[in-house]
Amino acid sequence: MYLDEAATTKPLESTMNIIKPLIEDMWHNPSARYNDGRAVRKLIDNARCKVAELINAEPEEIYFTSGATESNNWVFRGFHDRYINSCNVGIITTPIEHKSIIEVSKYIGCTFCKVDNKGFVDCEDVKKLITASALDGRKTLVSIIHGNNEIGTIQKEETLIDIANKVHEYDGYFHMDATQTLGHIPIDVKKLGVDLMSASAQKIHGLKGTGFLYIKKGVEINPLIYGSQENGMRGGTENVIGIVTFGEAVKNVDFNDEVHKHTREMREYFIEKLVSKFNGKINGALGDDRLPNNINVTLPYMVTGEGLVYLLDARGVCISSGSACNSAKDAQSYVLKAIGLSADEISRSIRITIPEDINRRKIQKALYELKNSIEIFRN
Ligand code: PMP
Repeated sequence: MYLDEAATTKPLESTMNIIKPLIEDMWHNPSARYNDGRAVRKLIDNARCKVAELINAEPEEIYFTSGATESNNWVFRGFHDRYINSCNVGIITTPIEHKSIIEVSKYIGCTFCKVDNKGFVDCEDVKKLITASALDGRKTLVSIIHGNNEIGTIQKEETLIDIANKVHEYDGYFHMDATQTLGHIPIDVKKLGVDLMSASAQKIHGLKGTGFLYIKKGVEINPLIYGSQENGMRGGTENVIGIVTFGEAVKNVDFNDEVHKHTREMREYFIEKLVSKFNGKINGALGDDRLPNNINVTLPYMVTGEGLVYLLDARGVCISSGSACNSAKDAQSYVLKAIGLSADEISRSIRITIPEDINRRKIQKALYELKNSIEIFRN
């Protein structure tokens, strides 16, 4: 039973049918001028249109990348490189970002804002930091994770808009890492005032190794990978298979269907059982402020999240003790630490992220295996 959707999702069933002709017939370089090349270019542009439409952007504002890790690195390094020679730069971010931001921010130097015990950013603190940075003569970038990959907290729309407005007052930019929210909740970059946005195909049933960076028209950052493709902003012959299947995955997103409602209901059912039967403490925000598929729980027993992952695996249940992107040397989740959990609580925490086709019977089975795994710790 796969309960680790935040790590990656199963590719669309139609993926093989989409890929086959791309390998057998339409394998030409999309930059080639002849007909076969132009036909492949058309497929890429088609996918670009679908992605743009999903977030209310223009197709020319979408730049395909190898995933959100690259997009996040691109934003930080591209912003830094673009402005560092003409003025000082100031980058403000949160302590609960994905590892790709945390690591690049060490390289460039950033200021971290406060977050509360549910993982909501402190809007007033961010605005103060923006003002201080701007008054210090810095070109300012604010980067905020939209939906957190570990604790599921979705930042409030009014906070994001407020922050975007503030940074725009000083001609700065607002970047949002929407990797966990794309396709799961509606995103309107224009409404939110987002200038730059990262996401990955693999979280919405596309393939690993494909993503995009949205760069609003007029926003200037340097490329991360120099070359001619993607309008000179992202070099390298396009990952056609990744991009075309990403377009299909986006086409499959439907916020009006029953699927998202069902996932939310199942998440609530799962949470209710973890609280009532296991005395679990749920980490992160609740209700609509939480990613529809995310559960993060601290268990009150003498267990370790790591141990439970292995014990459940032996029983055919895949969960996680934190972000799949943190390496083994990161023994403890910095996200849980940032929202105030003790080292002991962090070690007793697990993340469960449910697929759309989950049902009550599967949840009961997972809970049964969880109970058995906890018993092993006790014996
Ligand atoms: N940001 C967030 C919030 C994520 O959850 C992930 C993937 N776990 C990434 C960025 C990086 O995505 P990818 O590994 O596809 O580059």
